[in-house]
Amino acid sequence: MKFFLQDLSRVRVGILGGGQLGWMMVLEGRKYPLKFYVMDSPEAPACKVADRCFKPDEYKEMIDSVDVVTFEFEHVYEEALRYAYEKDKLLPTIESVELKRQRWKERVFYKEHGIPTPRFFIAHDVEEVYRIAKNEFDYKCVIKQSTGGYDGKGQFFIKSKNDLDSSIDVIKKISDVFVVEEFVEFDYEASIIAIRTFDGVFKTYPPTYNRNEKGILVYNYGPISNTYISMKMVEIAKRLADSLNYVGVMGIEFFVRGDEVLVNEFAPRVHNTGHYTLDAAFTSQFENHVRALLGLEIGETKLLSCGGMVNILGLANPPLEVLKYGKLYWYGKNEARKRRKMGHVNIVGETLEEVKNKIDKVMELLYPNGLDL
Ligand code: ADP
Repeated sequence: MKFFLQDLSRVRVGILGGGQLGWMMVLEGRKYPLKFYVMDSPEAPACKVADRCFKPDEYKEMIDSVDVVTFEFEHVYEEALRYAYEKDKLLPTIESVELKRQRWKERVFYKEHGIPTPRFFIAHDVEEVYRIAKNEFDYKCVIKQSTGGYDGKGQFFIKSKNDLDSSIDVIKKISDVFVVEEFVEFDYEASIIAIRTFDGVFKTYPPTYNRNEKGILVYNYGPISNTYISMKMVEIAKRLADSLNYVGVMGIEFFVRGDEVLVNEFAPRVHNTGHYTLDAAFTSQFENHVRALLGLEIGETKLLSCGGMVNILGLANPPLEVLKYGKLYWYGKNEARKRRKMGHVNIVGETLEEVKNKIDKVMELLYPNGLDL
C-alpha cells in the first residue's frame, strides 16, 4: 500500500505497558505524526509522554480506540492481549506471546524448528525434577519454572547434590511445570535484535556481547567480532522470525560455547540489549518496531560506530560524571528499588575496546562498591 505522511496523522498506536520500553517507543515514534495511547498507571514512564493514558481496567476502551496494538512486556495483561488479538489489532502476533507464557513450549518450539538450544527435559512434579537433575545432568543443571519467568525469577542454579537438596523444598512449594536444562559453560552471552515486516522483509542489527548478573542484564556492547558466530545468529533469528510469521522487532539471547550458538530465549518485543541502537545505529530498534507495525519501510540497521549500554539498576541518584563517557536516558520512575531498571547510559566509540573501556568507567561510577543485585 502506498502511504503519504498525512495518512500517519490519523493513526493511533496502542502500547500495553508503560515502562521504559514503551517510553522509548513513544519518544522515537514521535518523529512521525502518530498518536500514542499507553495502558498503565498514570505515573508510568510511557504514560507521561503518551497522547493518552488508560488504566489497565480500561483496556477495551483503549484497544477499541487505536489502529494497532503492541506491547512492551509479554508477561502481563493477558486479557488485554487476547482482546487485541480478537480485534485483529495485535502485533507481534499472539503465537509468539503464547510461546512465552510457558517456557517449556518455547523450548519445544526450538527443537521442532531445528533451532539449537540447551539440552532440556520437561518435569511435571518435584520427583521428576529431582530424577532428571540426578540422572540426566549429574546434579549440574538449571531448573526453570515454566510460567512467569523473567529477569531470573523462578530459576534454580544447581551445581551439586547439595544445591539440589537445598532447593528442593522451595521447588516443592511451586505448583508448575519445570524445564530442567543443562548448565551451559558458555564463553560468553550474546544477543541479536531482528525485525521482520508483513512482507517477510528481514533485517538484524549486529549482535552484541551481553553481561548478565543474577538473571539481569548489566551491560552490553558490540558488534561482536566473530563473523562466523554472527552469521549463525542471523540465520537462527531468520528461522525463528519466519516460522512465527513475525511482524515487529524481537530480541534473541544466546549462549556461545566455542563455535556453538545456543538460543537461551527470545523476547517478542523491543529489547534491553537493543538500547544502544538509539545512538550507534542509523535507525533505532524502537523506530523500526513502529515502522514495522505500520507496514512502512524498515530503516537502515547498520551501525555508525561501535556501541554499548550500561543499565542503571536500583539507583535513585546516579552521578552525572557518567556524562563524560556517554548519554544518559533517565526513565523518571517514581521509586528506586533493588534491581529496578531506572535508566541507562548509552556509549559509542570507534573501536570495541574504546566502548568497553568507557563501560568499565561508567560501571565504576555507578557501582563503586560493586553490584548489589
Ligand atoms: P529470564 O527468562 O528470567 O530472563 P533466562 O532464562 O534468560 O531468565 O536466564 C537469565 C540468565 O541466567 C541468563 O542470561 C544466563 O546468564 C543464566 N542462565 C540461564 N540459563 C542458563 C543455563 N542453562 N546455563 C547457564 N546459565 C544460564
